[in-house]
Amino acid sequence: MEKFYWGCSTSSAQIEGAFDEDGKGRTIWDAFCDTKGFIKDGTNNRIADDSYHKYKEDIKLLKELGCNSYRFSISWARIIPDGCGKINERGLQYYSNVIDECLKNGIEPFVTLYHWDMPLNLYNNGSFFNPEFLNWFSNYCEVVVSRFCDRVKHWFVINEPTCIIGGLGGMVPFKIYPTLDMLKAAHVLNLCSAKGFEIIHKHGGIAGCAYCGPLFVPAHDDNKIEYKEACRRTLILKRDDLNIFSVFISPAVEGKYPDQLFKEYTNEELCFMKKEDFLLMKENKADFIGLNVYMASTLTYENGEFIVDKNVDSYRTSMDWPVYNKCLYWAVKIIQDSYKKPIFISENGIAVDDKDDCMRSKYITEHIDYLMKAKQEGVNVVGYFYWSLLDNFEWFQGLRPKFGIVRSDRSVKDSYYTYKNIIEKYNKII
Ligand code: BGC
Repeated sequence: MEKFYWGCSTSSAQIEGAFDEDGKGRTIWDAFCDTKGFIKDGTNNRIADDSYHKYKEDIKLLKELGCNSYRFSISWARIIPDGCGKINERGLQYYSNVIDECLKNGIEPFVTLYHWDMPLNLYNNGSFFNPEFLNWFSNYCEVVVSRFCDRVKHWFVINEPTCIIGGLGGMVPFKIYPTLDMLKAAHVLNLCSAKGFEIIHKHGGIAGCAYCGPLFVPAHDDNKIEYKEACRRTLILKRDDLNIFSVFISPAVEGKYPDQLFKEYTNEELCFMKKEDFLLMKENKADFIGLNVYMASTLTYENGEFIVDKNVDSYRTSMDWPVYNKCLYWAVKIIQDSYKKPIFISENGIAVDDKDDCMRSKYITEHIDYLMKAKQEGVNVVGYFYWSLLDNFEWFQGLRPKFGIVRSDRSVKDSYYTYKNIIEKYNKII
């Protein structure tokens, strides 16, 4: 039986702390945290979970949980403090230690290269809009991948490009960009992904990205009209709405943009896309698709119309996100039908306060049961990573939302054992 990967996901800026240690450069999140009013609850990520010092405890917790994999991200500014130029050996050493610790404990490291913590110097120099950005990123990838390829097989180049162009990982927070600029940034991210795939493949690794977007699913299992419309709405590319899956997954998996892009925008508008860009994407494709899925909207077909429901299950998360326990089931079906690649659920989870931890147990159990149902029905899903191992720094929301199955002081919650039991149960079946 092919190995199934059970793990948890985290990201550098959200858990590491040690914001100015061992030669790390400043990132956009250091700057955002220092800007009054940017972080909703007034907290910051300077210490966060202090995983920089406590990674051994984290890996031990993963081992005891029964995980065979750990998805974490590397902070660009620890490796190259200014984003370009001088390399910081101490940063490389830190991640080398994390990787060794994983391997020592029978845990396969899954490394994300860019989970939103852009070196501040690059941001101040135009970020994605500087023509040098692709070179900066390629250089960073080469440094990291060449150093760790002897021990790391699976790489996620970029986490959720959709959210990055939406403001979270590199564009100015709260500033609304004209969509053509967003498309330009999306294009740069697609080129960065393709370059990342190229470098990873050159070093013998397996490459992909983690994607998200609004997910539409059929309200009724056997309703073909609803399913068809759910696929259409999930993957549709419309002018001025780039908060979607396909503008990123299609270039990564098929090596080209959906044809619709060239119908929605004029040639003149798209003149920043060069011939050599298309070639780069065509020649460097992803091996797998990572999906970060937290929720979905259902579609009911009634009297010739589709009714969209966003509040499907009876409970909501502490961030007021709606819950739909079948979202993973449909997400993997829809994406597999369209792209035919192995799929990882690279993130799935719920923010609830400790008093509601039983809701997390329910969420994890139901979501994984439905994911496994899809697997049993033939979907090529190869791994599941819960978001997140630890309560952590939830970006502009601060430290308040609690996604962890483990608290920041490393005490475990009941839901930790729920996940442990689920892993045990399915390891016997699959
Ligand atoms: C991101 C994580 C984030 C989580 C919960 C995902 O969009 O990759 O960094 O913490 O969702 O909001």
